[in-house]
Amino acid sequence: MTELTALTLAEARDGLRKRAFSAAELTDAHIVAIERARALNAYVIETPDAARAMANAADARLKAGEAGPLEGVPLGIKDLFATKDVRTTAGSRILADFMPPYESTVTAQLWRDGAVMLGKLNNDEFAMGSSNETSCFGPVINPWRRTGSNKALVPGGSSGGSAAAVAASLCLGATATDTGGSIRQPAAFTGTVGIKPTYGRCSRWGIVAFASSLDQAGPIARTVRDAAILLRSMAGHDPKDSTSADRAVPDYEAALGKPVKGMTIGIPKEYRLDGLAPEIDKLWEQGVAWLKAAGANIVAVSLPHTKYALPAYYIVAPAEASSNLARYDGVRYGLRKPERDVIGMYEQTRAEGFGPEVRRRIMIGTYVLSAGYYDAYYLQAQKVRTLIKRDFEQCFAQGVDAILTPATPSDAFGIGEKGGADPIEMYLNDVFTVTVNMAGLPGIAVPAGLSSDGLPLGLQLIGRPFDEEALFALGAVIEQAAGRFTPARWW
Ligand code: GLN
Repeated sequence: MTELTALTLAEARDGLRKRAFSAAELTDAHIVAIERARALNAYVIETPDAARAMANAADARLKAGEAGPLEGVPLGIKDLFATKDVRTTAGSRILADFMPPYESTVTAQLWRDGAVMLGKLNNDEFAMGSSNETSCFGPVINPWRRTGSNKALVPGGSSGGSAAAVAASLCLGATATDTGGSIRQPAAFTGTVGIKPTYGRCSRWGIVAFASSLDQAGPIARTVRDAAILLRSMAGHDPKDSTSADRAVPDYEAALGKPVKGMTIGIPKEYRLDGLAPEIDKLWEQGVAWLKAAGANIVAVSLPHTKYALPAYYIVAPAEASSNLARYDGVRYGLRKPERDVIGMYEQTRAEGFGPEVRRRIMIGTYVLSAGYYDAYYLQAQKVRTLIKRDFEQCFAQGVDAILTPATPSDAFGIGEKGGADPIEMYLNDVFTVTVNMAGLPGIAVPAGLSSDGLPLGLQLIGRPFDEEALFALGAVIEQAAGRFTPARWW
């Protein structure tokens, strides 16, 4: 029998149903794999006892013929999702001891469907970052290495723990969140599949808030099918989140294998950046060729406001973050540093609790929202956001079904290599992904090839609102053509 951790989620699900192995065996195999992979720093909290208990309960339901869609499937959970009585830190010292008395809607739905929780996964502090280097638990190490090199590389971020754990077979799939690229960029850096659904598809209730108008949960998985299976359980209307969409959740798995013949795929010329690495350009061309070979029509499209997306994002996201993070005041949650007076307590708590990147965002956000600057920055950025959204709407109105772009401008970089002197160097990682959050659209990253250094590279497909199914169908075509990518084990 293949090693249980090497199975895809779909294979494991089917094997459990046939009782080829038990949920307890599958869970134990993952617990052992996690123990052996601590060098990757992907898990910040391991919950083996809870996992075994959940697996035993799953086995009982499997035996009784009452299996849910994810019965017995072991998953990792980004440490941004509140998990009842399991520490939830968002990678921040300010929440180091936070024990939520409630469960996020997304994770509650996974447990409802029978999934097993292996533990909580590392992420950038409050999901701010593109490399998983801002976490108070230290960086996650990418299971991939450059050919002939031992240099430690970043897995991308902010869902770096999720992407690394999935790539290294430390879970069958993971939850993640994406505010500007945090599902798709780490997926691209680790050879995994990540989908950010349409804004409103998944409930944000119980997910530590970063920028509420941009935040969306989604899965990272090893295959397009696995991502489709997970999203179906994660998605759905939730009255506890007023921005969650009251729409039926389709059977996403059924979208795989749907013919893409006759679909129209837009190629936006503004994404052909000056100085784009030739291998990224080549990958993009290859993606076009694959979709064309599957019968899709390829058309050139224009998204003229693309170049303003990153600057506008770095006004909107910090503005919302500064407001959301005001709640960490030493009174209601987490860390509290007593001082002589209440102002001193606030200052000390926040200075010690937040890391440098989070402090930078709070300061930028407070500035752009302040009287006298609000119109020049925040209001202006909101207008630009509307224009970005309109670009996409016009493109879809012309009959485009989905848009194909690279997922990232480069392959994975070394730990400590980017953003030290200039944070913008790090922010540029999201140049292809932030537009999608600004417009509230669904986007999927699918592995499509290897760089000259032997590292995975991904392509992104952007869809119409609530048409994740098109992304799964098209993503499956790319996956079929490109094959799957697994790192050689060194840990
Ligand atoms: N890298 C982006 C940022 O730091 C996006 C992060 C995310 O999607 N959570 O804001």
